[in-house]
Amino acid sequence: MPRNTGGRPRHILSTYVTILNKTEAGDKERQCVCKSCVEVLKDDAKLIVNRKERIRKHLASCEHFLVKYGEAAEEILGNCDIDDEMPPTKHRRIDG
Ligand SMILES: [Zn+2]
Repeated sequence: MPRNTGGRPRHILSTYVTILNKTEAGDKERQCVCKSCVEVLKDDAKLIVNRKERIRKHLASCEHFLVKYGEAAEEILGNCDIDDEMPPTKHRRIDG
């Protein structure tokens, strides 16, 4: 039996969210909350499905995240494309 310390999410955006424990047996997908939201909204923070694209979408429009990280927020959201699973789909043509 492989020793698994608990299936960590790989995407780098997991730094900015808190992964929640599963609460219901039928819950297939883990949920998480945006840390920046929690700081401001506490229990009213919106739950997000723990998927990179979902989290990214949230962070991209999350005022608390944007306020907290300012210019870095853009970089964070930009950098998250570099890691695993999603190969770059944009092919930039460089002439010359
Ligand atoms: Zn948020």
